[in-house]
Amino acid sequence: MNITDTTTGKASDPIDIGRIALMLNDLRLPAIKTNWPEIAARADKEGWPAARFLAAIIEHEIAERARRRFERHLEEARLRSGKTFATFDFTAVPMVSKAQVMALAAGDTWLDKGANIILLGPPGGGKSHLAAALGFALIENGWRVLFARTTDLVQKLQIARSELHLENALAKLDKYHLLILDDFAYVTKDQAETSVLFELIGARYERRSLLITANQPFGAWEKIFPDYAMTLAAVDRLVHHATILEMNVESYRRRDAIERKHDADRQLAKDKAEVSS
Ligand code: ADP
Ligand code: MG
Repeated sequence: MNITDTTTGKASDPIDIGRIALMLNDLRLPAIKTNWPEIAARADKEGWPAARFLAAIIEHEIAERARRRFERHLEEARLRSGKTFATFDFTAVPMVSKAQVMALAAGDTWLDKGANIILLGPPGGGKSHLAAALGFALIENGWRVLFARTTDLVQKLQIARSELHLENALAKLDKYHLLILDDFAYVTKDQAETSVLFELIGARYERRSLLITANQPFGAWEKIFPDYAMTLAAVDRLVHHATILEMNVESYRRRDAIERKHDADRQLAKDKAEVSS
């Protein structure tokens, strides 16, 4: 039997179910392969029109592909696990507008034009958490993201440069709509000598977005780049189309620890009071 036979066959002709599975393999439609018997049974029972059955199995394949794509993109992004909006307490950073961050999570208004986000603030204020949370939400919305410690990425790019394929390495990063450079200001002086970071910023300018976290304000970025002129040029490009969020709050970790200590103290006082009464 061949395909033509199937398409011109009569409704009463027997159907080779094993062959359906093989054909779905050939066409790479695993979700349809898994789900069609159950959906077909329901369609037969409820007397669905053929078009409805077709739509139902196609929808399964599309949903399954979206799920697999999301998992692939999540894995490649190397986000810190558990750092999402669900675990982020916006009341701890009152100067950051939750509505604004949620709007950024849609992605299309800024990633399309290669605009940037800069998160500034002292250590422990939630910059890395917020960056990862935003990355996670963007991936959910279909974008591709890479989260990297800036010094690690600089190291990789320096190796690429020494092997004469920096351009190639930068081009490979283009597939990520957003590149998160965590702890930008931790780049060391010797890493700055051949500032691959400067080239990265130039390569992505107005094309692909960067999200930078830093605990140093722009004025202190001179040590990241070999000289003052380069620093100015880099900062200029970064801030040209940027949303800057200042997260000047006390360390969440420290606050958390202090609160836990207060809770413990209160409990201790209560226990003592109970013992002496
Ligand atoms: P930073 O990158 O600014 O130094 P982190 O994002 O690493 O700070 O935050 C330090 C720790 O405190 C992390 O475990 C983070 O999940 C937690 N944290 C910080 N801010 C918040 C917040 N607003 N809500 C929930 N957890 C937070
Ligand atoms: Mg951090």
